[in-house]
Amino acid sequence: MRDLSGKTALVTGASRGIGRAIAERLAAGGARVIVHYARNDDLAKETVAAIEGAGGQAYAVKAAFEDGVDALFEGIAGERLDILVNNAAILGGVLGTVSEEQFDRVFAVNVRAPYFIIERALPLLNDGGRIINISSAVVRIALPDLVYSMTKGALDTLGFSLAPLLGERNITVNTVSPGVTRTDMNAWLRADDGTGERSVTEVTALGRIGRPEDIADAVALIASEESRWITGHVLDVTGGYFLG
Ligand code: NDP
Repeated sequence: MRDLSGKTALVTGASRGIGRAIAERLAAGGARVIVHYARNDDLAKETVAAIEGAGGQAYAVKAAFEDGVDALFEGIAGERLDILVNNAAILGGVLGTVSEEQFDRVFAVNVRAPYFIIERALPLLNDGGRIINISSAVVRIALPDLVYSMTKGALDTLGFSLAPLLGERNITVNTVSPGVTRTDMNAWLRADDGTGERSVTEVTALGRIGRPEDIADAVALIASEESRWITGHVLDVTGGYFLG
């Protein structure tokens, strides 16, 4: 277990899925965790309860990023941060089905929000801190949800371009890219007859679907002192998805 005691982490989209696993994992390492979510009050409470039940410290903050990030920063007023994980994101849709309003909404949640969260978190972030953006393997694998894929490409570029600007404060900026992971975002894994799942496992070197904990462990690694010399990096955490 990596030692994160004394650290404070903000994890966006931590009411469920990968974000919840990240929040629980960082808390298990000793970090105090701010659990951001958009709408699911009960699920956010569950994340906080799970952390507290395991002896950790956490509280929840609600903010839907279509409406900007003011509510998030009102909720964390007075905080100092050590670790910022931009994890919250939503899907778009296939070509021909996405209205201009939906397009703007996906970019608002997946790109505009992380950008302004970083900008507004920088004065709160201690030197030596960590910024970790959750991207996706869709940046290197062509999939039909073009809008979602474009947002993740933007996030990869954000991390790469931001890293040199924060080096003098010893803040690292890295990107973690999951592959197909069992969460609500992939409800189709539960719904179908197993064909969808097989189509993924057959092209995954490690031969299974990802679990939220797989991603959370990689985030904890990047958040740790051991990763102090890693910045501007995109870490593929897919179990070897589509390696060719
Ligand atoms: P989920 O859909 O399971 O969870 C999404 C989280 O984001 C929830 O906490 C949700 O809060 C929050 N959220 C949803 N809408 C908004 C909004 N409008 N404003 C602010 N927050 C919002 O996602 P995953 O756990 O599957 O994905 C987490 C990250 O991992 C995302 O960045 C995703 O792109 C990435 N990823 C996921 C993969 C996968 O296979 N699952 C693969 C590759 C990347 P609430 O519960 O309140 O709605």
